Amino acid sequence: MTSQNPVFIPGPTNIPEVLRKAVDMPTIDHRSPVFGKILHPALEGVKKVLKTTDGQVFVFPSTGTGGWETAITNTLSAGDKVLATRNGMFSHRWIDMCQRHGLDVQVVAQEWGEGVPADKFEEILTADRNHEIKVVLATHNETATGVRSDIAAVRRALNAAGHPALLFVDGVSSIACYDFRMDEWGVDIAVTGSQKGFMLPPGLAIVGFSPKAMAAVETAKLPRTFFDIRDMAKGYAANGFPYTPPVGLLNGLNVACDMLLDEGLENVFARHHRIAEGVRKAVGAWGLSLCAVRPDLYSDSVSAIRVPECFDANKIVSHALNNYGVAFGTGLGDVAGKVFRIGHLGSLTDVMALSGIATAEMVMADLGLPITLGSGVAAAQEHYRQSVAGAERAAA
Ligand SMILES: *Cc1c(COP(=O)(O)O)cnc(C)c1O
Repeated sequence: MTSQNPVFIPGPTNIPEVLRKAVDMPTIDHRSPVFGKILHPALEGVKKVLKTTDGQVFVFPSTGTGGWETAITNTLSAGDKVLATRNGMFSHRWIDMCQRHGLDVQVVAQEWGEGVPADKFEEILTADRNHEIKVVLATHNETATGVRSDIAAVRRALNAAGHPALLFVDGVSSIACYDFRMDEWGVDIAVTGSQKGFMLPPGLAIVGFSPKAMAAVETAKLPRTFFDIRDMAKGYAANGFPYTPPVGLLNGLNVACDMLLDEGLENVFARHHRIAEGVRKAVGAWGLSLCAVRPDLYSDSVSAIRVPECFDANKIVSHALNNYGVAFGTGLGDVAGKVFRIGHLGSLTDVMALSGIATAEMVMADLGLPITLGSGVAAAQEHYRQSVAGAERAAA
C-alpha cells in the first residue's frame, strides 16, 4: 500500500489536502466561545447539504452506524413496528440493529442488486389501517451492491397510503455525492457520516431530524444516553457538547461544507455522475456487468462489478493491493466473492478515476480474465473527453 495512490474503496474516501489541514488543530478550550464559531457554521453547512431548512442537525463523535442508533433510540420504543427492505449488507445491518433494540421489523426481502420496493411498501402501508408501523427505513445508496433507491418514490408511497409513519433514510454513501432533498422528500431522519461524501476522516455521525422526528423524541422509550439528542441540543444552545467534542473533525466538517457549497451541490452531483458513467463505460467495455439489475438503480457513488462465475472476486482486490498498492472494495455478505467494488465518491477527478480503471484492467489481465488492456480506459476516456472537457473548456 502506498499513500500516493488514491483509494477506490467506497469509504473512507480520499481526503483533500485542505481538509487534512482543517482537522489538524491545536487543542482549544471547547467550553470557550471559540468552539461555537466552529460548531454552528458546521451545523448550518450540513443543513444546506441536506437541503433542509425545517430540520435540526446533530453531530456525534461516532460513525454512520452511530447515526442509525441515534435515529432509532431517540424516536422509538421496544416492540414498535418498523418496515424495511433487505437488499444488501448495509440495509441488513440496519435491520439487525433494530432487532437488537427489540423493535418488530417487517422485512421485505429483495434480491441483492434490487432497490427499495416502493410499490410493495405502498401495499403494506395501505393494509396497515391501524397505523402500527411507526417508521419506514430506506437505504438510499446500498453500498454493498451499488444500488441507488428512489427516496421520492418511497415518500409517494407513504402519502398514497395516507400513512403517518416516519421516513428514515440511510444516506451515508449518497449525501454530498448525489441528489438528496431532505425537506422536499419528507425525510424525517437523514443519517450520514464524515468519511464518505464529506471527504473527512471517519469519526462523525451526522444526522438531520425533521420537526416530526423531533416530536417523536418526547414519547420514545428506548434507552439512550450518549446519543440523546436532547442533551446534544442543550449543549449546542450553550455553544458546547454534553461531553468533549471532536473539535478538529468539526472544523473539518465546516470546511468540507464550504468546499461542497463552493463547488455547488449540483456540480458535485454532476461530477459524481460523470465519473460514475466513465466507470460504467469501462465495465461495459470489459464485457462485465453490474450487480445493480437496472440502469435506473446504478449508483453514482460505487459500482459493484460482477465477475465471471467460478472466479473469486476477492482475488482482484488482494492482487490490486499487493501488486499495485491500490485499494478496491470487496464483495460483502451474499455477494462476497461474486463482485468487487470500485468506489467513486468523494474527492475524485476524472484523471484519478482513469488510474483506478487502468489498475483494475492490469489486475484482471494478470489473473487471466479475458480483458484487453486499455479497453475500459479508452471507453472512459471517450466519455470524459466528451463530457467534462467540453463543459470546462467552454467555461475557461
Ligand atoms: C459506510 C456505510 C454505513 C456505515 O457507516 P460507518 O460509518 O462505517 O458506521 C452505513 N450505511 C451505508 C449505506 C454505508 O455506505
